[in-house]
Amino acid sequence: MNNFHPDIYQKSIYSIDYNKLKERGIKCLLFDLDNTCIPYKEKGPTDKLKKLFFKLEEKNFKVIIFSNSPRKRLEVFKKELNVDCCAKAGKPRKKNFLKIIKLYDYDLSEIAIIGDQIVTDIYGGNRVGITTILINPISNIDMPFTKIYRYIEKKKIAKMTKQGIFKVGNYYD
Ligand SMILES: [Mg+2]
Repeated sequence: MNNFHPDIYQKSIYSIDYNKLKERGIKCLLFDLDNTCIPYKEKGPTDKLKKLFFKLEEKNFKVIIFSNSPRKRLEVFKKELNVDCCAKAGKPRKKNFLKIIKLYDYDLSEIAIIGDQIVTDIYGGNRVGITTILINPISNIDMPFTKIYRYIEKKKIAKMTKQGIFKVGNYYD
């Protein structure tokens, strides 16, 4: 199996079919923050994001923001979205993925990670064996250290496109 290949690929967090995820047995959603939920430069949640998270709560999903950003940045999201947060997640390292899985006591088949980066979100999620969902980044402005990941990502995407298993803009679930 290719650890860089997402199980699901959608345009944005708003085009994911969450009912279908429910049918697959997913109960817990780990959301990357920057360029997945909001642009990296944004300081707080948008109304659209609030509505989505409210809807997910209604559908009985456990929603956790799982971000490599520092705790301070996540505070306002935790408060306004009323969700649990894991800061400094250290993606793609397995350590905090495994910690969350143990802490919340979910089966691997019940958890999905949703993120915009193949090298951190998708690779990290595939390594621990949870469902991985890639979306297109909201903006092309990244945190400084993300640039190196984007460079590797470009190469991985080119390889997968050549293999016929992934193409930017060809969505699937
Ligand atoms: Mg991101």
